[in-house]
Amino acid sequence: MAIRTAKHTIQEFELIRAIARRFARGASRLIQGIGDDAAVIAAAPPMWWHLTTDLLAEGVHFDLSAASPESVGYRAAIANLSDIAAMGAVPRYLLTSLAIPKTLKPAHIYQLYEGLMKACRPHGVRLIGGDTSASKAGLFVSITLIGTTTARRAMFRHGAHVGDRIYVTGTLGDSLAGLQLLMRGKTPPSTRRPLPQLRRSHRQFLVNRHLHPTARLAEGQWLNTARLATAAIDLSDGLSGDLRHICEESRVGAELDLGKIPISTACRAYAERQCLQPVQLALTGGEDYELLFTAPSKKQSTIERQARARGYRVTCIGTIRPHRFGAQMTSGDGTTQPIPMTGYEHFR
Ligand code: ADP
Ligand code: MG
Repeated sequence: MAIRTAKHTIQEFELIRAIARRFARGASRLIQGIGDDAAVIAAAPPMWWHLTTDLLAEGVHFDLSAASPESVGYRAAIANLSDIAAMGAVPRYLLTSLAIPKTLKPAHIYQLYEGLMKACRPHGVRLIGGDTSASKAGLFVSITLIGTTTARRAMFRHGAHVGDRIYVTGTLGDSLAGLQLLMRGKTPPSTRRPLPQLRRSHRQFLVNRHLHPTARLAEGQWLNTARLATAAIDLSDGLSGDLRHICEESRVGAELDLGKIPISTACRAYAERQCLQPVQLALTGGEDYELLFTAPSKKQSTIERQARARGYRVTCIGTIRPHRFGAQMTSGDGTTQPIPMTGYEHFR
């Protein structure tokens, strides 16, 4: 039985100790990690610290009947790593706070950490602390990620200028297509619209892009240190919404060339079977975690050459326009219309 102290049960202390043992490691500037009242990091030469945090609530951001604790942890880490990538920073330290319902077993918590660390480990990110509480209303997971850049060197949402080109990494819309495929798997076959089969490899690709997205850290650090981008953001809410953030913060307008938006073969095949426009998935689909950035037009050939040499997929999809132009999109037939404001929303 759990012995209650003011805040904790003995099981919670054991859980924290086990988490520390299994998932925390030392690092050169880390003076004190898990186990004291605060983590301590030695100051370093002039640096900028980048801090980002996300709170995920069961039933709002994830559903444990549809996703494993491992994938919840993985995706929570990627959401934060992607924010750090968009700043052009190097991710360093992770703090995780949990509110755990009685129904959840320690094994599930360890699986969650496996997912977190699977996303963080390849980048050398160290778990240095957190907080643990009981919950009476589902699982809550709060992640805080700390990254660094050299001082005065970072990418912001502000900074885009009229005439800059607009770029994205990777392909867009895959994650939303993957999510729709997963949801479809949950509805009984009798109520589904019969549709031509999607090739298995395409289905796997899309579902994997949803469950195991990639944070574009190498691309972000490249754009930042090579001083190529004037502004950047990660695509967590869909192209239409995230482009609008850059426009608002930079006080500019934008024109997208719909025909240029990079769509994977799998996403195209999926859209065709659903009688959807693939660009619709790209514009509204959240959680692709690609980078959207702007750069002066004179840097276009440098960007394309360096991206090719490094094996990064980067596509120019439009141009920054004056503020009064608004946010418009041009389709293949030359017609221009406002970009609809239908990004991914949590409060639906
Ligand atoms: P306090 O009462 O001072 O907040 P805690 O018992 O909450 O202390 O935490 C003790 C140590 O364990 C701290 O270093 C804290 O950062 C760490 N910790 C607590 N919960 C977690 C968790 N879920 N994951 C990682 N570290 C944790
Ligand atoms: Mg605490």
